[in-house]
Amino acid sequence: MKKGLIITIDGPSGAGKSTLSRLLAKKLGYISMDTGAMYRAVAVAAERHGIGPDDATGLKALCDGLEIRFERDGQGEKVLLNGEDVSQAIRTPEMSLLSSAVSACREVRVAMVRLQREMGAEGGYVLEGRDTGTAVFPDADLKFFLLATPEERGRRRFLELTAKGEKVDLQRTIEEMAARDKADSEREHSPLVRAEDAVAVDTTGLSIDEVLDKMLNIVCSNPAFRSLPTEPVR
Ligand code: C5P
Repeated sequence: MKKGLIITIDGPSGAGKSTLSRLLAKKLGYISMDTGAMYRAVAVAAERHGIGPDDATGLKALCDGLEIRFERDGQGEKVLLNGEDVSQAIRTPEMSLLSSAVSACREVRVAMVRLQREMGAEGGYVLEGRDTGTAVFPDADLKFFLLATPEERGRRRFLELTAKGEKVDLQRTIEEMAARDKADSEREHSPLVRAEDAVAVDTTGLSIDEVLDKMLNIVCSNPAFRSLPTEPVR
């Protein structure tokens, strides 16, 4: 028996996917799956092994030997790469660019999508990324596509990085984000596109709570959600 719905949230970087996925999952008693963190973990491993983003054979072998897991403790969610906590290492601007490059490799996508499907199969998941409603779970119960203007998305990422003590430039952050979005949208394998049946939510100028309310209303009026038992599944 399914433990809950499969909800997907896709969209460009800085649209609010990670934050809203975590908050929505918490409200529903579901688990949130940050699929971008998995591509970032592959990027960290590739860099450490000296495997370039164009080396499909090397990346395939790398992915075959990787164990990527999420773990939650009192301090939040951790990303474990072969048991090592890489939650910080995956969040640098360098890994943002490298993750975008390695994620264009078909072999990497096949390995990650397989893992994502295995983890989410029982339901009760909110997945977020670029292709979760198109390639990972095309039959998801409910799909969202989050948007915001490039300026607002760049500003959010800039504030996030500076809050962590990173020395970054606002204009450069906006430009790097635009370059990554372009690459993610134009790549051959699983490009970032809005699924036809995804509900688009523009987060420009809205607070996190306002977006969360909108999304919760949409979830609660979904017939598949209404047919579930009311108690939290986890
Ligand atoms: O979401 P985040 O910025 O952490 O993702 C890092 C990179 O991983 C993205 O730029 C994108 O290239 C890739 N990605 C992807 N498919 C996903 C999630 C992320 O290709 N489902």
